[in-house]
Amino acid sequence: MTTAPVPAPGGDARGTVEDPVTVEGRWDFGYTYYAGAAASRFFNELRLNRRIMGTHCPQCDRVLVPARGFCDACFVEIDEWREVGTEGTLETFTILTSSFPGLPEPPLVVGYVTLDGASSAVLNAVCGVDLTDIDAAGLSLLSQPRVRVKFRDVREGRISDFAFELVGK
Ligand SMILES: [Zn+2]
Repeated sequence: MTTAPVPAPGGDARGTVEDPVTVEGRWDFGYTYYAGAAASRFFNELRLNRRIMGTHCPQCDRVLVPARGFCDACFVEIDEWREVGTEGTLETFTILTSSFPGLPEPPLVVGYVTLDGASSAVLNAVCGVDLTDIDAAGLSLLSQPRVRVKFRDVREGRISDFAFELVGK
C-alpha cells in the first residue's frame, strides 16, 4: 500500500488540472422567503403610500435606500424611517440586450439611482431611453442624468411598483 499522492490524469496531486471537465446543469425552481421587517415596510410603503422610504443611521448619518434594518458601515440596528425624494441621479447603469427571467423584454436599461435625501443607490429599470442605438444610448447616460420615480397605478409591494424615467422626457 502506498501513501504517496497519486497524480490525477492530466494534472498533479494537488488538484491542478490541465484539461478541466465541465458538467452541464440547470436549476429551475420557485421559492418564497421572508423579506424581513425593514424590506416588508419598504415594499408596503411603495404599495400603499407611493413613498420611497429609507432608514437613517444615527452613527454615520446616512439614509439607506432601500431601507435596511442595520447599517452596513456601522453594524448597528437602525429603525428611524425617513421619506426620500422622488428624483435623483443615475449613478451607473447597464443596458440588457438579452432576455432575463422576471424582467421585461430587452433592450432594457437598469440603473442605480441615488434619490434626493438618500445616501445609497437603489437599483431599478430606467424607462424612456431611446434604445434604437444601444451605443448612443449608453453614451448619453454616462452624463449621470437626473431621473424621477414613476409609480405604477397598480402596485403589488415589489420593486417593480416603480421605475425611473429621465427628467425632461
Ligand atoms: Zn452607520
